[in-house]
Amino acid sequence: MDRDESAMKFCFECGAGMEQRVPVGDDRERWACTKCEYIHYENPRTVAGCVVEDAGKVLLCRRAIEPARGLWTIPAGFLELGESTREGALRETLEEAEAEVSIGSPHAYLDIPHIGQVYAVFRASMASPHHGPGVESLETKFFGLDEIPWEEMSFPVIAFVLRLYIEDCEKNLNRVHLGTLRWDGEGSRYDVKRYSLNQHLAVPLA
Ligand SMILES: [Zn+2]
Repeated sequence: MDRDESAMKFCFECGAGMEQRVPVGDDRERWACTKCEYIHYENPRTVAGCVVEDAGKVLLCRRAIEPARGLWTIPAGFLELGESTREGALRETLEEAEAEVSIGSPHAYLDIPHIGQVYAVFRASMASPHHGPGVESLETKFFGLDEIPWEEMSFPVIAFVLRLYIEDCEKNLNRVHLGTLRWDGEGSRYDVKRYSLNQHLAVPLA
């Protein structure tokens, strides 16, 4: 999601045109109504998802929708109003992978400031054996940790989530990772090599 995609043309309150300006008492540009007092505030959005583990493998979904159609992701999506991150992660896993899972420990909480997203990812295990492509997926499949299709990853954040998970598995650690993904501002935003994980804090869980 690019920030300029969220351009707003008409006021929700009165229907007049909107413009970008710094409202009185504020310190940054907002979409504001040219006629009434309405200001359209935009804030980061939370994406909730699961690393679903089973017998040393993880469940991935091949996306049926843009962006990144045909590429692989963990089940994850935007939180809905009224949901906790856990509930959102469960719902997305059911919607995208038709998988009923049990949430385990938190795995990663990663900020992606340049696209205004926060990823909240949990470890999860299968509560029943079935999985399959939901409407937003073409295919679902368990991959061994040495079989991850790194060249066909949907988004850089997914590669970071999986790398951290594999690192923990190799070290036999259960940790929650906090950090900020920074894009270097050059090249493609889909190129994982353009990203670094900053302020990374790996907290061991009991
Ligand atoms: Zn208005």
